[in-house]
Amino acid sequence: MIHFVGAGPGAPDLITVRGSRLLGSADVVIYAGSLVNPELLALATKAHEVHDSARMTLEQVIDVMVRANRSGYEVVRLHTGDPCLYGAIREQMDALDERGIPYDDTPGVSSLCAAAASLKAEYTLPGVSQSLIVTRLAGRTPVPEGERLSALAAHGASMAVFLSAGMLPQVQEELIRGGYDADAPATLVYKASWPEERVVRTTVGRLASDGEKAGICRTALILVGAFLAGDGERSSLYDPSFSTGYRKAKHATGQAPQGVRIVSFTDRGEQLARLLARKLEGTAWRCEPGELPHWTAEGFRGAGGLVFVGATGIAVRAIVPHAQSKVSDPAVVVVDENARFAVPLLSGHLGGANDLARRISDACGAQPIITTATDGRGLFAVDEWARHQGCVITNPERIKDISSRLLAGEAVCVRSDWPLPSDTPRGITVVGQKDACDVLLSAHEASDGRVLHVVPRVLVLGIGCRRGTPCDLLLHRVESLMARTRYDLRSLACICSIDAKSDEQGIVALAQELGIPFRTFSAPELAAIPGSFASSAFVQDVVGVDNVCERSAVLGSNGGMLVHPKDANDGVTLALAERHFEPSWEWTRG
Ligand code: SAH
Repeated sequence: MIHFVGAGPGAPDLITVRGSRLLGSADVVIYAGSLVNPELLALATKAHEVHDSARMTLEQVIDVMVRANRSGYEVVRLHTGDPCLYGAIREQMDALDERGIPYDDTPGVSSLCAAAASLKAEYTLPGVSQSLIVTRLAGRTPVPEGERLSALAAHGASMAVFLSAGMLPQVQEELIRGGYDADAPATLVYKASWPEERVVRTTVGRLASDGEKAGICRTALILVGAFLAGDGERSSLYDPSFSTGYRKAKHATGQAPQGVRIVSFTDRGEQLARLLARKLEGTAWRCEPGELPHWTAEGFRGAGGLVFVGATGIAVRAIVPHAQSKVSDPAVVVVDENARFAVPLLSGHLGGANDLARRISDACGAQPIITTATDGRGLFAVDEWARHQGCVITNPERIKDISSRLLAGEAVCVRSDWPLPSDTPRGITVVGQKDACDVLLSAHEASDGRVLHVVPRVLVLGIGCRRGTPCDLLLHRVESLMARTRYDLRSLACICSIDAKSDEQGIVALAQELGIPFRTFSAPELAAIPGSFASSAFVQDVVGVDNVCERSAVLGSNGGMLVHPKDANDGVTLALAERHFEPSWEWTRG
């Protein structure tokens, strides 16, 4: 009988009891000398033949097994870690099957587990990642195309990369190509559980240089993902929400706090949590007994807001150990599972819990119970202001910064593309077009990411196209027009066209993709608006009005200004009009 046995990651006392017993009764041992700790051979007290497979071919290994089996010997084939990962056991088993030789398989502790143990880490952290990707770079063994490291990296899940410590520059490059931030945490664990074990904590962007500095090029696992971030490192290192940018960011609605996490405890609660997750673009988590402290701790480190669907007592007890200051605590809201009340518990103003409770109210009908004295300190809340003005904040992670500056009594400078009235709130200074600012109210792209960018939805896109133009082409044309005109895509309020286009699939899909309404007007309505527009006899002939894109943009903006005239290409015509917009300092709520 042949026994495949997992030797464990290195430490001799990490072999299983069964594996150890099998070694003790083996007559012949074949071990993978490159990685199996030779100290384990001391357990093979009965063995009269010990082979190091590092020096043998597959055929030679099979020969030893065949001979030993013929003599009625017990054979242990000792593999590092667990044989099921990169153990090359299948080919041996196939050869044994062909010869009718019986075998069994005893699992071992993989280096995957030993590495996590030495880091005291969990790959499947609730709210961070619930998946572990085990992979390698192609070496002599090829890797299927669909499993390229860059493709797998795009999931943002926890990752363990085997057999690749000798190719750290390639690993780094592929991880970044797949969407990992250079700042995302990465860790090298060399010879986990061996006396010479070493751990190099680094980032994806420094993987190759730090690995080289530490002289690590073999027998190491490369671990990647937000699960590695420890206390206090989390926010600065890597945000697990892993928004790879434009597509996702452009759909951000209103002042929704980024990354709202919703926890529930019962089936009924879970249904509500899922609904809220959908409407708030957050994530729902059904909590099993014992998981709540961990979920809450994680949420305090990284979430934009926490929602407990259940009793207030559960939430209060969970958050008490973490609540520190209104400047840094996330928004915490409790909703009863019948969706009757939404109660902000923590960070009503600065963290946005009041706002979150109102959004929950919009989503499920629960009544918001606001307990903060309205504007107790007269502190200006930039997010509520933006919401009141019908604007989107493109980088809501800056809100806390602005609020804490106001709280500390520092001045906050606001620059606006529209005149602002003179009843400026306390702490706010309005600056001129050329001055540096902290808050920018503009429909154009912000060039400085440190500035809180408030984008009013003022643009109306007028559109005409050939029948059957696909959504992808329309989107491409819109994105290119917005890029050329340096308008932020989020400033688009609606798409307009002629009613003959009301069932044009590409435009309908475009409006959906951009998350804005699609309105159409009749030819006489379009023809009636005053002004001078690019005129086409052909268009007049086909649809009964000389111009569709410019006229529908202007009409859709209630007589606003045409800010970009007809832009024709690929059979698509586009025009942009700007609605009248008069910002106020209105922001407080009753
Ligand atoms: N079956 C083994 C993996 C064999 S492939 C297991 O379950 O662990 C060999 C690769 O495993 C090495 O290149 C390295 O990436 C990893 N490895 C094996 N032992 C290791 C250890 N003690 N510490 C870190 N990585 C190890």
